[in-house]
Amino acid sequence: MADFKVLISQEEIETRIKEIANQIDQDYQGKKVTLICILKGAFIFLTDLVRNINKNDIIIEFMAVSSYGNEKRSSGKIKIIKDVDRDLTDEHIIIVEDIVDTGLTIDFLIKYFNNKGVASVKTCSLLDKAVCRKIDVPVDYSGFTIEDRFVIGYGLDLAQEYRNLPYVAEIKED
Ligand code: 5GP
Repeated sequence: MADFKVLISQEEIETRIKEIANQIDQDYQGKKVTLICILKGAFIFLTDLVRNINKNDIIIEFMAVSSYGNEKRSSGKIKIIKDVDRDLTDEHIIIVEDIVDTGLTIDFLIKYFNNKGVASVKTCSLLDKAVCRKIDVPVDYSGFTIEDRFVIGYGLDLAQEYRNLPYVAEIKED
């Protein structure tokens, strides 16, 4: 068992997700938008987010990526494990991530989708470790900015476990 403590409570997450959902409703009024859930980490965030979006002309897609290298930090070499199933040409898309850390994954994804000819790309992440950036990337909808801590829960894992915690917790490093 890892030693961890709650960093962001369930209530705080719920409140912030409602705000982001309202913002998406406003920003995409009269426009269809495709939300792309980046698996596995964003699966809980995506499901709570979409249930708080009121507009019904949203489309949901899933994509799975992994980065080579050590377990706790992205190497920047991104591998697509599962691509989206449809042609997204001319669609407005929002990439939904669990956390932006170095920024390398989201940078790869923005370029990937721009090359596919989408109409627009925005990014949405529950967590943002802004101090850890290796590359400047836009996080258009950001839940919480956090310090350089390894976090788990609410979709985020430690060696594939702890994703089911209903809050975000910080691993206590010794
Ligand atoms: P980036 O490419 O921005 O460095 O990394 C993004 C990915 O690294 C996230 O989607 C996530 O899979 C992983 N990651 C970065 N920081 C953390 C963290 O604190 N906890 C967990 N569980 N994964 C993280």
